[in-house]
Amino acid sequence: QPVLAVVGRPNVGKSTLVNRIIGRREAVVQDKPGVTRDRVAYDALWSGRRFTVVDTGGWDPKAEGLQASVTQQAELAMMTADAVLLVVDAAVGATATDEAAARVLRRAKQPVLLAANKVDDERLLADTASLWSLGLGEPHPVSALHGRNSGDLLDAVLHALPATPRESLGESRGPRRVALVGKPNVGKSSLLNRLTGENRAVVDAVAGTTVDPVDSLVDLDGEMWRFVDTAGLRKRVKTASGMEYYASLRTRAAIEAAEVAIVLLDASEPISEQDLRVLTMVVDAGRACVLAMNKWDLVDEDRRHQLTKELERGLVRLPWAERINVSALTGRSVRKLAPALRTALTSWDQRVPTGQLNSWLSELIAATPPPVRSGKQPKVLFATQAQTRPPTLVLFTSGFLEAGYRRFIERRFRERFGFVGSPVRISVRVRE
Ligand code: GDP
Repeated sequence: QPVLAVVGRPNVGKSTLVNRIIGRREAVVQDKPGVTRDRVAYDALWSGRRFTVVDTGGWDPKAEGLQASVTQQAELAMMTADAVLLVVDAAVGATATDEAAARVLRRAKQPVLLAANKVDDERLLADTASLWSLGLGEPHPVSALHGRNSGDLLDAVLHALPATPRESLGESRGPRRVALVGKPNVGKSSLLNRLTGENRAVVDAVAGTTVDPVDSLVDLDGEMWRFVDTAGLRKRVKTASGMEYYASLRTRAAIEAAEVAIVLLDASEPISEQDLRVLTMVVDAGRACVLAMNKWDLVDEDRRHQLTKELERGLVRLPWAERINVSALTGRSVRKLAPALRTALTSWDQRVPTGQLNSWLSELIAATPPPVRSGKQPKVLFATQAQTRPPTLVLFTSGFLEAGYRRFIERRFRERFGFVGSPVRISVRVRE
């Protein structure tokens, strides 16, 4: 659901307005000591639409001086919200701090609304006109305390919020793009031939010269997929040892061009450095991934035990990837690839709403707080999934979070929201 961030200097009535927007029930929760005290994201419902309200005051950036603090709030709001509401005190008028915040917010790509608070009666209405000077359009007069005009303000907020959050708008069109990668002789051409069916003509989408990448459109399980840069594979070009650097560039380019990679490993041989390099490329590029353990027809009991051990060591950076034991030669389990690709892409595209993310995270952290560092207990003030493709969480904290604790959050996040087959990135912004 879309996110509204509320920005403003202290004492303009920001919290009262937030409570007014979300309703009294939440307001009571907020006053309880303990876990909920640190919450700054709330779910709101108005005129049948749900959205998340973020009180940027709760981020507590502790920046040098009031003006810097409010400007930082505005910047955070622009990074994370779908619309921003700047609250000013109509009785006081626009202060230098309000102007500084407005200056930042005028650069915002998302809609920005201006609330003129503390307009408790008609006589104060005239004062709001001067707030046009902030350059944020029409000031919306409101009295958070008495609820005066707050319905009109909420109507304007709903009008400004997109129906769906920004991230889900830019979905790609056409077939999803797949890279089929792995070291030479792992069976890429064989698998591609198997997938396209030896006797069926494969549509080459883009005609190119011999060096140009050429994609193949492949029908898997009733759906068209675009296998990127398969020209070399289709011609069964063998990579001479001197060509390894070129092959690696080509692999990298294919991964960059794709949304999801099928990484082929040769299950009959020890996992090599070259395999690990390909896996690292996929993770670093932030692409979804399915592991295909090829040549499974050659794997016996002993080799299987050995392989399990090798995978434990080799897959530390992508324990989340689905693994399928296939044989391009016999066709074993090749049909399982399409469902795995779909699952991976669903995770890659998935976005957890900010309200849901924060209530889950505050419970997790209350149960298992981050380790104390140099006598201080870091707090996670607020989290948002700032991006999809790959899913990227941004945590605003009051102190450094150790890598082990970040991995713990990632693991639980995957379990709770069902992320399989996609990297999940966690970025921590420390405010101190
Ligand atoms: P590429 O370099 O990754 O494209 O690998 P190829 O598709 O050319 O395959 C390399 C060799 O492995 C060929 O001799 C294939 O016949 C063989 N091969 C590929 N897949 C399998 C498999 O599933 N089982 C077995 N036994 N051999 C395979």
